[in-house]
This record gives sequence, structure tokens and C-alpha cells, in this order.
Amino acid sequence: MSRPDLIGRLAVQTAERAQGKLLRSVRTIEHADGPWLESGGRRLLSFCSNDYLGLAQHPQLIAAFKRVADDEGVGSTSAHLICGHRAEHAALEQALAEWTGRERALLFSTGYMANLGALQGLLTRDDVCVQDKLNHACLLDGAKLSGAELKRYPHGDVAAAARQLATHPHAAALLATDGVFSMDGDVAPLRELAALCRRESATLMVDDAHGLGVFGADGAGSVNAAGLGQREVPLLMATLGKALGCAGAFVAGPAALIEGLIQTARPYIYTTAMPPALAAAALAAVRLAQTESWRREKLAALVERFRAGAKQLGLPLLPSSSAIQPLLLGSAEMALTAAQALEQHGLLISAIRPPTVPIGKARLRITLSAAHDESQVDQLLAALESLHLPAVRG
Ligand SMILES: *Cc1c(COP(=O)(O)O)cnc(C)c1O
Repeated sequence: MSRPDLIGRLAVQTAERAQGKLLRSVRTIEHADGPWLESGGRRLLSFCSNDYLGLAQHPQLIAAFKRVADDEGVGSTSAHLICGHRAEHAALEQALAEWTGRERALLFSTGYMANLGALQGLLTRDDVCVQDKLNHACLLDGAKLSGAELKRYPHGDVAAAARQLATHPHAAALLATDGVFSMDGDVAPLRELAALCRRESATLMVDDAHGLGVFGADGAGSVNAAGLGQREVPLLMATLGKALGCAGAFVAGPAALIEGLIQTARPYIYTTAMPPALAAAALAAVRLAQTESWRREKLAALVERFRAGAKQLGLPLLPSSSAIQPLLLGSAEMALTAAQALEQHGLLISAIRPPTVPIGKARLRITLSAAHDESQVDQLLAALESLHLPAVRG
């Protein structure tokens, strides 16, 4: 027998990644205090978390979490469909549906699972799923899991999406897009995509992981900000682990969608419900995100300050009005070297390299938060200036 050894093969692949400066490694954070993180005994100011509204350590979230942990314990003890669905989950689903203007919402334990579940639960092998090339990995994986034919159009190219839909005029069709793109920070052409889906009788799905809490009236997200509702975007997905500072995710839409996914979405059915204390903390976060609009305003002002400063310095900033402000550097080595130099300045920013982004488009993914202040943004700009980064065209 001369079967290849699987773990040996993996070790070779890992060594190759290291050669190409593409090795991924885990950093342990010993302590978090707002945007300040302690790692390796050093205190670093981070510009890489997704805690856009600064809610992850809010006393009201912590109090809600503790109260329910005291009363109900830690684990939900079961899947939603057995005995894991608690009053805290029900209240959170209700609040999320109302906030996003949808009939119903369905909680998932992670965003990754929500997208797997929505696509697998809705699509069959006979259907077509059209997606933006820069969609989050789990939307692509969801389409693969469903067995539907996956077509990917160039980033933001509505005409290309239209051509892909037109090649399958008789198949049931889902067009799925990130609302705010996770590595680029730009907003999808939602109105144009909605018009296309309407013309083509396709269903539009938006993953608003980075838009919920940040954009729209009362933070209802990028779909709301585009003036679109449940009719135009019947399938809305968003996460609780970004602007809401918790963990988990939900799908929201018409009752028939939610009722159907409860029957079919395997990543919903066959997994333990999130801890009820976490659902209670997320509900507290929803209330704060809805009512404390100063967090959104502060974030927007910091984004504007950063962009104005970066423009003055001629930094290779991608166009983005969201909390995600990527600096395009090109090679993986360049991005890694820049991230290491910034760490010497006491700043933690991650180098995003292929295959997470296309080859030649490695970048620093800078994220801002309402937890930052102006002087910290200025500190970031000063550190970036000292690196003498080359300008790269997008
Ligand atoms: C983070 C993210 C997810 C996954 O959400 P998790 O809750 O972290 O699993 C899905 N889609 C997008 C666009 C994301 O940025």
C-alpha cells in the first residue's frame, strides 16, 4: 500500500505557506480593556477588532449576562428544537425582528452557521446561487453545502450578476451579497441588486455582519440605510459578534422563510442553542445600539478623521465609509512587515493575506470603534506616516 499520509501532506502544505509568508498563527490576548489589549506582556492599542460600537465590555451587557447565568446556569443544555430554546432566545428573536423590520428572526450559534443554514435550508441542487466574488467565505461554503450551482460575479458588478441570472432563466435563484464587505469595507450596490432581483424574480439575501448597528436608522443596518425592506430583501442575515459585542447570529425575514428554515436548516437543527445568558447580553446590546446613536456618530467622526489624515499622507486607502478601513499594500510580505512595524509602535493591526484576499491585494485591515478616541486615531496616523508606505493602486 502506498497511500499518501494525510497529516504528513498537511505538514508539507503548512511549510509551504510559511515560505510564502502566508502562515497563519494564533495570538493569545492576556487581557482586554476596551481597545487596549495585553499580549506577550505588552500593552497594545488595537485597530483590528470588530467591536465597532464599543459594546463588548459594556456594564449593561455584563450585568444581563451575569443575571441570567445566576438564574439559569451556563449551557442551554440542548438544541433549540429539544429544550434549549429559552425565554431569553425568544425575546432576542423578537427584538431583532422588530429592529430590522422583519416578520420573524431565527437565532444561530454563529454567523458561519447562519449562512450555511440559510443557503442549505433554502436551496436545492436544481437552483442557482449568484454571489459577489468578495462575499464572506461562509456564504460560498453555504452554496457548496446546498448543492446549488454557484456563480460568482466580479465585485460589485451588477451587470455581470444580471448576465449570470439570465443564463438560468428557469431555475429558482438566490442572489447573495455582503452588505458591507468584510475585507474591503465598501457597501454593496444594494438598490441596484434589489432592482435586478425584482426584474429576474430572484430572491435577494444580504449578509449584514458589518452593517448592523453601524448604518441605517437606529442602526438597523445597510439594507435599511439603502431604503430597502423585507419585500426587496427577503433574506437578511447579521451577526451578534461584531457591532453588538457578543457572539452568535440570526436570519430575519418573512414568517414562511423562518418556519421553513426551522424544518430544513441543519446547522440550526443539529446544534446546541447559544447560552441563554449570551442571548440576554445580546438583547441588552440591541437596546444600546438602537438608542445610543452617539456611538454611531462618534464612529463616523473617527472614520472621517482617519480618512482625511490618511489622504493627506497619501496612504493607499480603499474607498470605504464603514468602520473597516483597509490599506492596500500588495504583497503578503509587505503587509506582514508593516503589521510588525506597527506593533513596534504599540499598535495591533492584522495583515490580511491570500487566500483571504486575492493574490497581490494583501492589506492592513484597520478597524475603528466608538471605543477609540481622536488622539488614538492621530497616533495611528503618525505611526503609519513613519512607515513610509508605498502607494498601491486598487
Ligand atoms: C464574521 C462574518 C461572518 C461569520 O460570523 P461569525 O458569527 O463570526 O461566525 C459571516 N459573514 C460576514 C460577512 C462576516 O464578516
